[in-house]
Amino acid sequence: MIPFVRDMAFEYGRADQVSPLIRRVVANNPGPFTYLGTGTYIIGRGEVAVIDPGPLLDEHLEAILAATAGERITHILTTHTHHDHSPLARPLQNRTGAVIQGLPEPAGQADEGDEEEKEVRPVRFQPDHPVTDGQVIAGLGWRLEAIFTPGHASNHVCYALAEENALFCGDHIMGWSTTVISPPDGDMTAYYASLDKVQARNFDILWPTHGPPITEVSPFIDAYRRHRLAREGQILMQLRAGPQTIGEMTPLLYRGLDKRLHPAAARSVLAHLIHLVGEHKVRSDGPPGFDRHFSLV
Ligand SMILES: [Zn+2]
Repeated sequence: MIPFVRDMAFEYGRADQVSPLIRRVVANNPGPFTYLGTGTYIIGRGEVAVIDPGPLLDEHLEAILAATAGERITHILTTHTHHDHSPLARPLQNRTGAVIQGLPEPAGQADEGDEEEKEVRPVRFQPDHPVTDGQVIAGLGWRLEAIFTPGHASNHVCYALAEENALFCGDHIMGWSTTVISPPDGDMTAYYASLDKVQARNFDILWPTHGPPITEVSPFIDAYRRHRLAREGQILMQLRAGPQTIGEMTPLLYRGLDKRLHPAAARSVLAHLIHLVGEHKVRSDGPPGFDRHFSLV
């Protein structure tokens, strides 16, 4: 079982000081993928960085500006280019002059696909300066290191705050839920490697973009990984019954799941199957996809 953490005291639009160097403002965009909403982090005091400005909501833009009144936002950083993370970067820049850093949208995928995939699809986004893996971005009293963590999105970046041995982990690791891995941009094999990469750094605390922080970091990541491996085991078990499509398997693998999340669950099953095909444990009667039959090797 994953030791989920879900309790969080907050009010939409209010900036809370959650650690010596960190403030958080939550956007009013709750939902099945965003939990209570997007948590925008403000790092430092006086000259600050903003991580994940959030969705295109005027009231959230005004809340960030109110929280930083009398201060200067020098950097706007994005963890990835989903609709609840990066779109407010440009409007916030227009009001503050801050430089935008992150990674650009993955080529050829933004604004494509159908409406039901909108939550896990990249949006159009270009930073002023793309970050590089390991790059340090420093300000008055704070140092943030970019750590590439592909998996949830191919362009996912976490940011480590040196002064607090803390990690802003975006949607890579979330306390309230597992994260969605949706191909083609989501990649399970990369995701496992990115979990290991964070685990190896021994952070004291993780600050996801949605929900409260994770303080029991190492056991939490272990449980997160075990959950994925258990799902793989269930998929392999299910395939013992013979060749099947993802549409046939998903309701059996996700009994009791909120129906709104079934399309996302199906995409997660596809992500697992692509990984298992790569490991030569499963074969597909063509390039892995929803119209294919999968079987055990
Ligand atoms: Zn998100």
